[in-house]
Amino acid sequence: MGTQPLKTRFAPSPTGLLHLGNVRTALFNYLLARASGGSFLLRIEDTDVTRGHDKYIEALQQDLTWLGLEWQEGAGIGGPHGPYLQSQRNAIYEDLFSALQARQEAYPCFCTAQELEIERKSQLAAGQPPRYSGRCYRLSDDERAARLRSDTPATLRFHVAADSTVEFEDHVRGLQRFGTNDIGDFVIRRSSGGAAFFFSNAVDDALMGVTLVVRGDDHLSNTPRQILILRALDLPVPAYGHIALVVAEDGAPLSKREGSSTIRELREQGYLPQALNNYLARLGHTSYDDSFMDLAGLAASFDLRHVSRSPARFDEGHLRHWQREAVNAVSPAEFWNWLGDGLDAWVPADKRPAFAEAVRTNINFPVDASEWARVIFSDEHFALTDGARQVLAGVAPSYFDQVLETYTACAGKFEDFALVLQTRTGKKGAAALRPVRLALTNRERGPELVRLLAIIPATRVRERLLAAKAIAAKQ
Ligand code: GLU
Repeated sequence: MGTQPLKTRFAPSPTGLLHLGNVRTALFNYLLARASGGSFLLRIEDTDVTRGHDKYIEALQQDLTWLGLEWQEGAGIGGPHGPYLQSQRNAIYEDLFSALQARQEAYPCFCTAQELEIERKSQLAAGQPPRYSGRCYRLSDDERAARLRSDTPATLRFHVAADSTVEFEDHVRGLQRFGTNDIGDFVIRRSSGGAAFFFSNAVDDALMGVTLVVRGDDHLSNTPRQILILRALDLPVPAYGHIALVVAEDGAPLSKREGSSTIRELREQGYLPQALNNYLARLGHTSYDDSFMDLAGLAASFDLRHVSRSPARFDEGHLRHWQREAVNAVSPAEFWNWLGDGLDAWVPADKRPAFAEAVRTNINFPVDASEWARVIFSDEHFALTDGARQVLAGVAPSYFDQVLETYTACAGKFEDFALVLQTRTGKKGAAALRPVRLALTNRERGPELVRLLAIIPATRVRERLLAAKAIAAKQ
């Protein structure tokens, strides 16, 4: 895209909560603007939307903010090209409708839905692509004036010149060419008076100075019509890049699929915004190496030319991978904040930093940390499993005396615990440490033993080792 600062945008219709599919579109636009030193705009496309969707407008702004996808202009913050809610821009659209009519580029159409349906069916029956016949375009001035006087409901149609082509270079999909005969005259204002989606969408991009539109390829067929509208109004035509939709593991588009995770749900599950950003920036896009990056890093290597033209498939395993990376990458303060207030009751204040560092490499979600907090700081739900008991029963009781001696000898400095224990017992590696881990945590895996020994209260360490010894002694 060269080195010019780009102005990109995200233009959601507030019909629901954001999901991974539409947030990926927002992220791509954000990264492109940021990498070019340009700006990112947020416009709310709420013309078709019934009332009661204000909550979604609020929610989508919160979600974008949570992800760190800050916009420099638009909904919630204003700017020089507002208003940024399309429902407040009717006067602007009306002026443009009048301009198009004055230039003979648009005309009122009185055809009823029924007439249009009959026309459509007969075209299909004749093997022709359905498109408007232009009947109302051919009305005489007198006929048109008479119908307008009689208040016959009318849409406004844009007139498309026949036998021509519309071409544009799509920044993802390459050169696109559409014949105008396949487009036909189309409605830009509904009979109810509202602007058609692709009209307001196109003119707002132009009026708001957007230079690059990156959006789902379900909008590709709108683009030639939008270019025609902008040309007819002498408005600047942005560059376009149409990206393939994200599909669920079963192949259904994420946007349409019941039960697809919303950003809000993922956030509630404990996903970190950095995990979603690292995952989504790579979904159907291949510019990066494997390293975890912040938004600046993701922006620096983002390249639209490396975005795939085929649908990107959501993969929960990959998302989890980036979650683990994110959990390890955030600052200690962010990490504690992410773990949430729930832990305060379990983890004594002076043990919090050590607890956080101990569990960090072993958890994906805050709930995993709560489990560790309970194991380490409470006996309430601590009951050795049969598997653990079996392993402990196979150990000589005296082994646990040696463990206890080693524990005491280390006197709170556990860096050498494993070494001292091995020397004392002659056992190496897993044989030496597995019974200790099981006795203390009831788990085969978990945080480093050195770190655990430093935070489990000493009386609890002794009690659990003695309990293990008792199991061993029963054999
Ligand atoms: N409001 C449209 C949508 O949510 C915007 C399409 C576009 O980005 O141009 O699909």
